[in-house]
Amino acid sequence: MESLIPPRLRDAHANSLWKFHQSCEVSRPMTSRGGVIKGLRADGSLVSLSISVAKVQDKSQTFFVAVIRDATASVQQQEELRRLANNDHLTGLLNRRAFIDRVAEVDAQGGTGGTLAIFDIDHFKRINDHYGHPIGDQVLAAFARRLDERVGQEALTARWGGEEFISFHRDATEWTVTRAIKEFSAELQFAPIEAGEVTIQVSISAGITYRPPQEPLAAALERVDKLLYLAKHDGRGRLVMSDQVVMRLGKNGP
Ligand code: GH3
Ligand code: MG
Ligand code: MG
Repeated sequence: MESLIPPRLRDAHANSLWKFHQSCEVSRPMTSRGGVIKGLRADGSLVSLSISVAKVQDKSQTFFVAVIRDATASVQQQEELRRLANNDHLTGLLNRRAFIDRVAEVDAQGGTGGTLAIFDIDHFKRINDHYGHPIGDQVLAAFARRLDERVGQEALTARWGGEEFISFHRDATEWTVTRAIKEFSAELQFAPIEAGEVTIQVSISAGITYRPPQEPLAAALERVDKLLYLAKHDGRGRLVMSDQVVMRLGKNGP
């Protein structure tokens, strides 16, 4: 069994086997911090395993019996289920619930504050009405890809619902995020979205607000939603910051 375990885990394995030997348990599943045991194939590659070990007492000797299964399929299934639960099916971005969970995880690491931005594509209904829903879907998917390329490295990004997207930029000020959003918006103007046979110019309205450490996410969401509303009300193609500074983002299209 030891030969099936990668060398760096062998000491830990020997240790837990010894503890099991000393305990009054007769069988136990082997676990690891990641939940799955990595095994070593003969060619040196790794494989996900599920291992259960049982103790058999024979006179003065103890034998161990191990049942080892290749868990690749069930690990893949679990990953797929996790992906389906956390990611929006159309855009592949995090969905609303997963976004809230991820922000909570960041907070639990000793949240340091950051900036929350919400984006809404202007007059999206016109795109559906004019080109049809399937093209609308392609525009949303392409928009999400572009947003993710632009801010995905530095922020948690999600599809908030419909044609609305959200990002949380840890440790960032409103001004830093404003610059990123202005650049993103300018890119959408200079390089419009390609969907099927058509090229579509979209503009966005955005609200952004600094979220101090420990502020409940719901409070920041309520604030940023009002700012987005102001951006829409002010004529669209605009970004509104917490102190209601309004920035033009580009043409009020499509
Ligand atoms: P505004 O500038 O005020 O935001 O106008 P809008 O037309 O973008 O907003 P409105 O809320 O009136 O309409 C949103 C549209 O987005 C209507 C809805 O059918 C469309 N939509 C929402 N989710 C999807 C989707 O997954 N695919 C497609 N194709 N359309 C969607
Ligand atoms: Mg809209
Ligand atoms: Mg909307």
